[in-house]
Amino acid sequence: MFDFSDEQKMAQQVLRQWCEKELAPKVPAMEKGELLPYDLMRALASTFGLAEMMKASFARLEARAAKGEAAGPKDDDEESGVLAKDPGLSAVVAIELSRQCPGFMLAFGASLGLAGGAVMARGTLAQKKRFALPVLTLEKIGAWGMTEPGAGSDAFGGMRTVARRENDGYVLSGTKSFITNAPFADVFVVYAKIVDKADEDPRHRPIHAFVLERGDKGLSTGKPFDKMGMHSSPTGEIFLDEVCVGRDRLLGEKEKEPSREGARDVFHGERTGMAPMCLGIVERCLEESVKYAKVRTAWGRPIGEYQLMQEKLARMYMHRENIRNLLFKQLWMQKQGQRQSMAEASACKLYCARATTEVALEAVQLMGGNGYMREYVVEMMARDAKLLQIGGGTDEIQILTIARQLLAS
Ligand SMILES: Cc1cc2nc3c(=O)[nH]c(=O)nc-3n(C[C@H](O)[C@H](O)[C@H](O)COP(=O)(O)OP(=O)(O)OC[C@H]3O[C@@H](n4cnc5c(N)ncnc54)[C@H](O)[C@@H]3O)c2cc1C
Repeated sequence: MFDFSDEQKMAQQVLRQWCEKELAPKVPAMEKGELLPYDLMRALASTFGLAEMMKASFARLEARAAKGEAAGPKDDDEESGVLAKDPGLSAVVAIELSRQCPGFMLAFGASLGLAGGAVMARGTLAQKKRFALPVLTLEKIGAWGMTEPGAGSDAFGGMRTVARRENDGYVLSGTKSFITNAPFADVFVVYAKIVDKADEDPRHRPIHAFVLERGDKGLSTGKPFDKMGMHSSPTGEIFLDEVCVGRDRLLGEKEKEPSREGARDVFHGERTGMAPMCLGIVERCLEESVKYAKVRTAWGRPIGEYQLMQEKLARMYMHRENIRNLLFKQLWMQKQGQRQSMAEASACKLYCARATTEVALEAVQLMGGNGYMREYVVEMMARDAKLLQIGGGTDEIQILTIARQLLAS
């Protein structure tokens, strides 16, 4: 049977203690917008020596590059740092952070996983060192910008952000919206369409990723959006007003590599990366619900004795088992060097996100009026869970992806 290793289970215990001691007391202030998540993310990294591990991993990468190995932009375990090197460990981190505060996990994952991960997967060695390393060590915060006000589900076709070639560089214009960490990020991975000829169909222009920095002339960001959930993760816009950059900001520094593939890799990662977040939320909601069902009485009996409440607990348990199994299947496949198809990744995200929203809402229901109160963690979980059915591709887009693969075979 596949399970977390003893080492990963130990890491999980230590992380849980850190989350209970350090993260939980700060959640109310983060949820009210009185405290940003970033210092706490840095504290997490420093407690667990993440920065040192990343730097050591980079030093090895540079040494190998100096010997003429692995200097190009390609996936490599060694290059991707400690979390990517151990997917089980990164799952454990996502589970534990999500058990306490999914919004905090979203801010953490968008910076390290999406922004840092995109540069690590496709950047040159110089780009990795300049842009990814400070993000992976938490010195800087990253944001990953694909979505636009007019292009979410249809992100590639509907994209209006353009990069015009000028001299040996590019001039970028456009707006990105709903971007996690955008209001406070230092490093931005943004996607733009390269304008080749004025008369070409804008839907089919080649898309490339660029790495921008706060301080680049013409780049600005909006205020954090006021949203339904994920309050501990600031979300906002990136405005690009004729931002002139050199070729060194084109991710990979080569136009010929089809950059849609790079973005698709991140979509795939976002979809598979959702399972541990879902598991963290579901586990917490189930535990809180069981505890509550034993102590809350109605008509002189604990509500856990009523079969309608038992059905809720049993469904939560069933979803937890299924999500855990889906996650373990993913981890097992990664261990074998196998990659899930896009339909598999979509099916996993679709199931996990729907199940998690159901579980969190049922936990609220089981707790009655208390469940609707901020004081009870399931209230935050229910609002946060809903995002999982929207971000990283909506439920409907996952369904289309699955159906497309089924009908093509
Ligand atoms: C809190 C939060 C954080 C986010 N973080 C990031 C981030 O860091 N980076 C980033 O790039 N993006 C981010 N996003 C954006 C997110 O990925 C998009 O919101 C999502 O992809 C949906 O796009 P949309 O909002 O434009 O919805 P739309 O595309 O406008 O969809 C509206 C509705 O139409 C449905 N729909 C669309 N097309 C079809 C179709 N062909 N068939 C059937 N139904 C369809 C959708 O499923 C949805 O129900 C974030 C969003 C939120 C809310």
